[in-house]
Amino acid sequence: MMTYQAAASEAGAFINHEEILSTLDYVRTHKNDPALIEQIITKAAEQKGLTHREAALLLECDDPVLIQRIFDLAIAIKQRLYGNRIVMFAPLYLSNYCVNSCVYCPFHVKNKTIPRKKLTQEEIKNEVIALQDMGHKRLALEAGEDPIHSPLEYILESIKTIYSIKHKNGAIRRVNVNIAATTVEEYRQLKEAGIGTYILFQETYHKETYERLHPRGPKSNYAYHTEAMDRAMEAGIDDVGLGVLFGLNTYLYDFIGLLMHAEHLEAKFGVGPHTISVPRICPADDIEADNFDAIPDSIFERIVAVIRIAVPYTGMIISTRESQRSREKVLKLGVSQFSGGSRTNVGGYTQSEKEQAHDESVQFDISDKRTLDEIVGWLLELGHVPSFCTACYREGRTGDRFMSLVKSGQIANCCGPNALMTLMEYLEDYASEETREKGFKQIEKEAELIPNPKIKEITLRNLKAIREGKRDFRF
Ligand code: SF4
Repeated sequence: MMTYQAAASEAGAFINHEEILSTLDYVRTHKNDPALIEQIITKAAEQKGLTHREAALLLECDDPVLIQRIFDLAIAIKQRLYGNRIVMFAPLYLSNYCVNSCVYCPFHVKNKTIPRKKLTQEEIKNEVIALQDMGHKRLALEAGEDPIHSPLEYILESIKTIYSIKHKNGAIRRVNVNIAATTVEEYRQLKEAGIGTYILFQETYHKETYERLHPRGPKSNYAYHTEAMDRAMEAGIDDVGLGVLFGLNTYLYDFIGLLMHAEHLEAKFGVGPHTISVPRICPADDIEADNFDAIPDSIFERIVAVIRIAVPYTGMIISTRESQRSREKVLKLGVSQFSGGSRTNVGGYTQSEKEQAHDESVQFDISDKRTLDEIVGWLLELGHVPSFCTACYREGRTGDRFMSLVKSGQIANCCGPNALMTLMEYLEDYASEETREKGFKQIEKEAELIPNPKIKEITLRNLKAIREGKRDFRF
């Protein structure tokens, strides 16, 4: 049999079905081998990551004591590498026209009941102002694939519009982009437009299932979709975001595929994915989640924990698909980016609550419906630091440069204080009185933990100035 390494060197073969089957077999044979699992947990504690085989074994181990040790390790690694910071963002839907036929998405081409809409540049401006007025600084652009309604030129123009809007103290400082797989040339243009992370979910790594779930349209080409990140990185985009939609296929197969994809990027480009998203299938117009193999919370939490320890330096994203309860649990276990106040329809941020409630064009139902202020206040109560920082991106610390920062352990002197400064700005510009008070207390506590005395002194001085209404900085 061809070895995994040999197969992976062939174009497009890095998701090697045979290797996944062999890993599944390995997991079945060894999942009750406590000595081996202990050994893997010890290795994981060194924070150098795990192979897909090792990670899969941890995910499937069913000894409650060992499971608890895996959770404890994930919590410890999360704390050590990311501290209490949680990066905040919101999705912005530009267009729901789509020529694809993904059977789990209400934007699919055959859905005739959903109202189709594409934002004009003026409408984008209004949406962005609404997002800035909430306090957002970081967006994830979303658009269906449609060469007529939303060609790359439209996406590029929209990015330019978004970056150009400065409303009151607001500004969108990082635009991440989640659009269909495209060519190296088009990725180059996205890079030149100043995008942050390019995000593309694989949906499922199981080729046969993928082809069944994507019967028509450009996205039906499994190899072209799977190799998209290679083209994006070739084009110079060094922050890429992976993800699968858990529930489309057996979770273990996709979990293994996801880690193989991360290993492939690391081996080929010297840097793994910037983020991994962990969405689960949920209901929407024309979509019955019951028709899929939705995973229970207990498995979901273990997936998050094992991803955290298998790829410790990769950020993890959770969306408002998840309930408050589920989000709270996985935050501790490893999630580092969090959306808030999200709308998953086109034009949602400028709608009234009533219009929003009657809009049937959402891509998925939102489970966590709280406002950004409510979410920020809640995160603060839990001891987290909601961060609106985009400094790394603005200073060119992307890809391996960002990874070196995390690996050097300088997060506490760099990202931590930056997060506090951006939280101060948020509290002053956008927060309710209640959230503001919680925030100031949390910043005070966190500032005391900053190792570098000079940075600690500056942070406390800025906090004092803000409290006294004498802010003299703009981050
Ligand atoms: S998942 Fe994306 S590509 Fe598929 S139908 Fe929905 S919008 Fe279109």
